[in-house]
Formats: sequence, C-alpha cells, structure tokens
Amino acid sequence: MEDKDVVEGKDNKKKVTENLNLLQSTQTVIKNALNKLGYPEQVYELLKEPLRILTVRIPVRMDDGSVRVFTGYRAQHNDAVGPTKGGVRFHPDVTEDEVKALSIWMSLKCGIVDLPYGGGKGGIVCDPREMSFRELERLSRGYVRAISQIVGPTKDIPAPDVFTNSQIMAWMMDEYSRIREFDSPGFITGKPLVLGGSHGRESATAKGVTICIEEAAKRKEIDLMGARVVVQGFGNAGSYLAKFMHDAGAKVIGISDAYGALYDEDGLDIDYLLDRRDSFGTVTKLFKDTITNKELLELDCDILVPAAIENQITAENAHNIKASIVVEAANGPTTLEATRILTERGILIVPDVLASSGGVTVSYFEWVQNNQGYYWTEEEVEQKLRDVMVSAFENVYNTALSRQIDMRLAAYMVGVRKMAEASRFRGWV
Ligand code: GLU
Repeated sequence: MEDKDVVEGKDNKKKVTENLNLLQSTQTVIKNALNKLGYPEQVYELLKEPLRILTVRIPVRMDDGSVRVFTGYRAQHNDAVGPTKGGVRFHPDVTEDEVKALSIWMSLKCGIVDLPYGGGKGGIVCDPREMSFRELERLSRGYVRAISQIVGPTKDIPAPDVFTNSQIMAWMMDEYSRIREFDSPGFITGKPLVLGGSHGRESATAKGVTICIEEAAKRKEIDLMGARVVVQGFGNAGSYLAKFMHDAGAKVIGISDAYGALYDEDGLDIDYLLDRRDSFGTVTKLFKDTITNKELLELDCDILVPAAIENQITAENAHNIKASIVVEAANGPTTLEATRILTERGILIVPDVLASSGGVTVSYFEWVQNNQGYYWTEEEVEQKLRDVMVSAFENVYNTALSRQIDMRLAAYMVGVRKMAEASRFRGWV
C-alpha cells in the first residue's frame, strides 16, 4: 500500500501528492505495526476494515412540518476484546470511510489505554448548527431507533464526539431505554451527571491531553510554567485544554475556531474567551484582529495542539512548524508524510490515538459505575485517569525509543496487540 498518490498536475504532468485519505493511511500504519509485531498477513486482512458497518436513513419531522431524511452510520471495527465503543459525530462532512477509519482508531485507543473494548464509531450527515433543539432531539432518537439492533450495553456503547454533547446522549439513552423497556444507563456514555454520567467526563479528553503534554514536556525538558502553547480548535477538547494550560501557568498565545485564529505573544485571556465562546466553539468572529489558520500553526511556540479537524499538518507546512512538541487532541490532524518530517526534525509527536484517549477512558469509568450502580468522586476519577494515561504514555514512548520508530507507529503497535491476540485466541485468525 502506498502513502502517496500520483495525480495529474495543472500542467498535466504527473505529480506525486500526499495521500490524505484517512482510512488508507490508517491501514498503512496498522500493516506496519502488525509486521513489526510479527503477525501474518491474515491478521491484517481481519483488522484493516470494520467487521460491521450499518448505514441507516433517518426520517425527521422538521419544525416547519416537512420531512428530511438524514443518512447515518455505525461502524464496529473489532469485538474480540469486548463490546465496541466510540462516539457519534453530527457533521455535514461525515462519510462512510471516515466513520470506518474512526472506528479503527477507537480500537487502537482502547488498546493503548488497555480497556476491555474494541472500537466503534457513528456519524450522521447533518449540520446541527442549523437545526433547532427539537429537531436535534428527533434526529438523535431516530438514529437510536435505526441502529438499536446492533448496539447495547454489552454490544456497542456510543458516546459524544464532534458536535454531540450530554443532552444528545440523554435523549439517546432515553430512547434506548424505552425500546428495551428498562432503564439502560450503560447503553451510552457522556451522559449528564443526574442520568448516570461520570464526574470528569466532559473535560476528560482535555485532561488526558494535558497529562500527555506534561509527560512530553518532561522528556523534552520544557517547563510548563511560561511555556508558549498554541491550540487549534476551541470545541470541547480545545477549550478545556486552553483552560488547563492557562491554569498550569503556560502562556496560551494562539487559539482558533472554524472562522479564524487569535494571537497574542503575551498570552490570550482564556477565561474571557471561554466566557464568550458559543456552544459550537465559535469565538473569533467577535474580534477584528485575527490571523489565518496557516499562520497559527506556524507560530513560534513550544507546544502545538491541533484540536480541530483532520489533515492540518501536511508535507506542505511540516517544515515550518516551530513547536518542539506536537500533541494531537484531534483525530488525524497530521499526515504520515508530515509525521516523518516532524520526527526527522526532532519534534516529539504525541499521536491522536494516545493523546485523545482520555475521553474513552473516562467513558469506560462511567460504564463501570453504571454497571455497578455505585459512583465515584471527581478526585477518584481524576486519579484513575492520570494512572492510566501516564502508563500508556510511558508504554508508547518506550516502544518508540527501544524500536527506533516514530511515536505513531509505536502507538499503533501498542494499540493493536491486544486485539490481534484476542482475535487469535478466539480462533478468528
Ligand atoms: N468520541 C471520543 C473519542 O473519539 C470518545 C469516545 C467514547 O467516549 O467512547 O475518543
């Protein structure tokens, strides 16, 4: 499999460009990881695609009386280790391939933080920014009715992702409980506290990223106090992260949303920005003085955190990145070619499947609490999350060092092993 595509350039000459296809690049790294671990080809054949993907069409009565039919997906990558687990995103750009790649990443995340799950992922092609509260409720409930046969507390457990939140999880849990005719809090995670949610779930992804930043900074001998941090994206992960960095004494000199970016070399007023941010993470529209996304990524800083969307650091800008550490809070922000360039330049990358695994870790804690019907304090959750993240970081970092490979390949090796072993013991390969 190749990581490069040959395409016709403007002048009709064949040009080699980077492969920005997420599924294909994920498969490339899975293949390399399995090779390094010594698994035969058939294991790759099993793991290169999800075991199952369901496409559904969801009719929704809109507020004006018309009916719109939305397309949704649920992919289940591999359930050898246990039930599948992963979020549901509401976004106009959702595609089947993206959901597939995201379900594979969930398997890797669960492997890296050693949870008893395989990976799953869902998505609905829609733009929640243009829908009313009640339309969103009907869409969320419709999605659960459409996928109800393949999900459940011991089958596949959804959670929040891009543009979905605890309210949407609450509607989905309620719909599932009505269908099954018993209360099923363990069907979904990321719920409000009063419906069996866990302390610390909402900020868990950012907390996990923060712990990874602390660990990476130690390795690079960077003092977080006064360190210059740039965060791309001001959604759930990005905004909490900016706050945690600010509270840790770092200087957050740049942030961005889908419409622009803000920069202040003396550090931005994060509390003010959080206060003015809307529920979709938009804040830069309120300012006249903005910089571009490209300028943001190339700012002189110590730590760069892409916390927005895919394919942001590519072969085109990887040479201009000035950070010493890149921590991927988003899924898939750095291409494979860019990973190679950054690694060669001595920049420490903490890959998405490690850095963003704090969310699913606390989701697992939520599910455990739901199953036992006994709930933990915020301090307990935080300590447990810290233990898990620190040991996952050490495991990946030491694998990269001892094998002399980049952090992404190391993370995939750690992430894929349990799933491959479980599939072997079950006699699937
Ligand atoms: N959507 C989050 C992720 O991509 C969380 C998934 C979960 O909590 O199950 O990791």
